Amino acid sequence: MSAASSPILQPIRVGKTTLPNRMVMGSMHTGLECHPERFDQLARFYADRARGGAALIVTGGFAPTYAGRMKDEPGTLERADQVSAHRVITEAVHAAGGRILLQILHAGRYGYHPAIVAPSAVKSPINRDVPRELTPAEIGKTVDAYANTARLAIQAGYDGIEVMGSEGYLISEFLAVRTNFREDEWGGSLENRARFPLSVVRAVREAVGEKILCYRISALELIEGGLSDDDTVWLAQAVEKAGADLLSTGIGWHESTVPTIAGAVPHAAFANATRRIKEAVGIPVTASNRINLPDVAEHLLSSGAADLISMARPFLADADFVNKVRDARPDQINICIACNQACLDHYFTGQVISCLVNPRAAREVEFSDEPAAQTKRVGVVGGGVAGIAAALEAGRRGHAVTLYEGGREIGGQFSLAAHIPGKEDYGLAIESLRRQLDAAGVEVRTGQRVGIEALSRDNYDEVIVSTGIDPRPLDIPGANDPRVVGYTSILDGSVTAGNRVVIIGAGGIGHDVALLLATGEHAGRQSVEQFEQRWGIGTGKTLHPAKRSITMLKRSAGPFGRTLGKSTGWILRQELKDFGVRQIAEAQYLKIDAEGLHIAVSDRIEVLPADTIVVCAGQVSARSLADELEARGQSVHLVGGAKLAGELDAKRAIYEGAVIGNRL
Ligand code: NAP
Ligand code: SF4
Repeated sequence: MSAASSPILQPIRVGKTTLPNRMVMGSMHTGLECHPERFDQLARFYADRARGGAALIVTGGFAPTYAGRMKDEPGTLERADQVSAHRVITEAVHAAGGRILLQILHAGRYGYHPAIVAPSAVKSPINRDVPRELTPAEIGKTVDAYANTARLAIQAGYDGIEVMGSEGYLISEFLAVRTNFREDEWGGSLENRARFPLSVVRAVREAVGEKILCYRISALELIEGGLSDDDTVWLAQAVEKAGADLLSTGIGWHESTVPTIAGAVPHAAFANATRRIKEAVGIPVTASNRINLPDVAEHLLSSGAADLISMARPFLADADFVNKVRDARPDQINICIACNQACLDHYFTGQVISCLVNPRAAREVEFSDEPAAQTKRVGVVGGGVAGIAAALEAGRRGHAVTLYEGGREIGGQFSLAAHIPGKEDYGLAIESLRRQLDAAGVEVRTGQRVGIEALSRDNYDEVIVSTGIDPRPLDIPGANDPRVVGYTSILDGSVTAGNRVVIIGAGGIGHDVALLLATGEHAGRQSVEQFEQRWGIGTGKTLHPAKRSITMLKRSAGPFGRTLGKSTGWILRQELKDFGVRQIAEAQYLKIDAEGLHIAVSDRIEVLPADTIVVCAGQVSARSLADELEARGQSVHLVGGAKLAGELDAKRAIYEGAVIGNRL
């Protein structure tokens, strides 16, 4: 198939607008919605995606009323004096050849502030505040407020509106018997519960005239007391009749206990839910969730599951996603690995979002795209993700870059992580980075542990040291026992663990190793069917026993997994619980002998028999080269784990590498 014939690149009519291709950048809160003074940053972020080929962009959610805001800070569009700030966004996107919708999101009981409102005073399991029940008069005013926001958005130059009707926010709360206990005309039967969203759609239609009206519909609720599949089809048809031009399918409520966007979710896992809606309506339907590769998107389009593809995170990872498809270089797309570490987790912790694999995202204004004024010879030592990021940025600015990697392959900790169930995309990300290095003209020398002499011989103008980390060894009597292995040997498959495993250290890596060993090393990617059975989607949960008996240990007190990602940690904790992994905190490691690992917990001594003891006790910086260079008076740029192993963290490592590489 030639690039031009890709289903992704085919135009499509949405309402009165013709979109040039099928790729929508879906809504994602950036954390800038509440900061009109930083809308230039938001404008640059969206404009880069429009220039990169996204046919349609949807902003993060703006609330129609003060009570509907997400957090205890602004983030509404409700007054005329707010309009002008938005023009910087719409003008930038239009100048870049794109189109942009404003998303109206009333958070309902999901708002993180004390003044939340909902159809009924029912507390959400993920919010400590109980919402106040809206009066009938307030409901009418809220409908008017949606129309008001839509009108203001059109004045600000937006190409239309997306009404957020999924994921458990106010509109979902009206629709579901789980959250709507009303006995008036806004509650009871499905028709009554749908009165609010349909009134909103009609009011917004009138406000936007012929501009695009997209409705984000919950294609699969994944909660008890949500809409059934038949209800959802009925709603989709009713929304179409009420005036929507486009349906964007969302999956699950935020309080669902089924993963919907994490790496544990197979690619396009929810395509059938989208297909069900598409087959019931005449307007175009957009699919989303875990679609991060062009071939997955193409398959969904050509198999008739969806008319358009909505991607949010993959457009953070690569603004040029569509252009790379058009230019026949889809294999250079920077892959979103579904880690959530710099996007969702940033938002949930009050930070502006970015992207772990693309630190430029939402920070575009901090990076230069200009060719370097003076071309330098740059040596980068260490082919982990920090070194790769540095080499890529420097290479793209025109420097002559050589990247040295002591191992056979580049990728470092990322390549190891690719062996963990749910992290398979890390391997694809490295493959793409390899090709991007090639395209940036970076010379990659693998299998070369470069020393100070060789570096001096090559006479680099700049040296970047990204030699990473060494795993911290265990230091107790018996630690040299052959049953004791480092986590790298387990992850790279050079050692196969026995049946009884003890894991020392319960950080991110300890948890990942436990999951790998419980699942079995050769499980491969989970199929959609296996995923559905595992999490009980449309059926009861089917749990498989762990492949090994596993005990995790840590010295500190408190629950396990507290340092895991905010939006993904719960999945890993649940998986290990379901596998029956034993976890012992406040353990003191005493010795290893023929009987096993001896530990003290409080005043009790326990011996843990073990065939394999895996050490996941954190990291120490591998910085001897940097120390040697500095001792000779040579200035070096130190990035990633080599600089600070204490918080070895791919997000920080890649950011540091990218910044140094870009500023040379
Ligand atoms: P980590 O999160 O710092 O965990 C290190 C573990 O080693 C801790 O549980 C610590 O627990 C233990 N430890 C520290 N010093 C020790 C010593 N001298 N002897 C025995 N145990 C010791 O480091 P990591 O697991 O290597 O992970 C590295 C980085 O990658 C982290 O930033 C992590 O967040 C990230 N990562 C995250 C994930 C995820 O979120 N899924 C997965 C992989 C990696 P005690 O002090 O309690 O014993
Ligand atoms: Fe994807 Fe992770 Fe980047 Fe978020 S931070 S966009 S999940 S790669």
